[in-house]
Amino acid sequence: MLVFSSSKSIKDYISTLRKENSIGFVPTMGALHLGHLSLIVQAKTENDVVVVSIFVNPTQFDKKEDLNKYPRTIEEDLKLLQSVNCDVVFIPSIDEMYEDKITSEHFDFGGIEFEMEGKFRKGHFDGVGTIVKKLFEIVMPQNAYFGEKDFQQLQIVKKLVEITKLPIKIIGCKIFREKDGLAMSSRNIRLSEEQRKAAPFIYQTLLDTQQKFGIINANEIKQWVEEQFVNNEFLKLEYFEIACEDSLKPANECQEKKNYRAFIAVFVNDIRLIDNIRLGN
Ligand code: AMP
Repeated sequence: MLVFSSSKSIKDYISTLRKENSIGFVPTMGALHLGHLSLIVQAKTENDVVVVSIFVNPTQFDKKEDLNKYPRTIEEDLKLLQSVNCDVVFIPSIDEMYEDKITSEHFDFGGIEFEMEGKFRKGHFDGVGTIVKKLFEIVMPQNAYFGEKDFQQLQIVKKLVEITKLPIKIIGCKIFREKDGLAMSSRNIRLSEEQRKAAPFIYQTLLDTQQKFGIINANEIKQWVEEQFVNNEFLKLEYFEIACEDSLKPANECQEKKNYRAFIAVFVNDIRLIDNIRLGN
């Protein structure tokens, strides 16, 4: 496994491989868990060479405190990457990616950037677009893998390659969960024992939503979900939305025969957790 921190070095190295090998890419912010590894394992089966990046991107954090508290576990990450036979790792510094200007490029993603995460985390998707574009231009993979755990981000990245005309196929991968249903997340390691016990309620609520979908309407479901969180000691609901998979607009503005998902964001003290689930068939 080769580890690079310089964009020029990794770019040169990958360009020698590209002639005879397909390149799969998995961008991450580190603090790796089995969810990340599932993306890497899928990339390994579909490509000759797999590149993983680890970079905690400052421009996609709307709160400095969240950025500072983001878990960083590089030594363990490298061991995990080795265990799944990752080929190349890119761990750039902030200077390497941004030089002296830590700012985002502004993107027009056609409106999906203003829904849900975009409403609650100002500038988040400009930050995501900025770093993913920079990483894509360095690695230039044929295939790039993103988790449905961050479903809106997955749709944003698909839009990004459309806008930039980069010849990269974006592959969405299913959400990897703990045994009790909690979606795996780097942030989960910050949960106390009590908070961790309370957190599977998020997925349980999404499962209940799945049962109710088609029986009561989207607004009634939304109201029901909001009521479930009112007296919860540990979990504070930030938003719950039922939206079309393509436009990410709330279900009441969508037409029939679209695919829908329920999306949720919850605070456990200052730890923000998101999840989503496919509705209907
Ligand atoms: P992150 O390090 O949180 O930026 O995540 C890196 C990639 O892993 C993103 O494409 C995420 O959507 C994906 N990912 C994170 N958690 C999970 C999970 N539990 N299941 C599947 N993919 C995930």
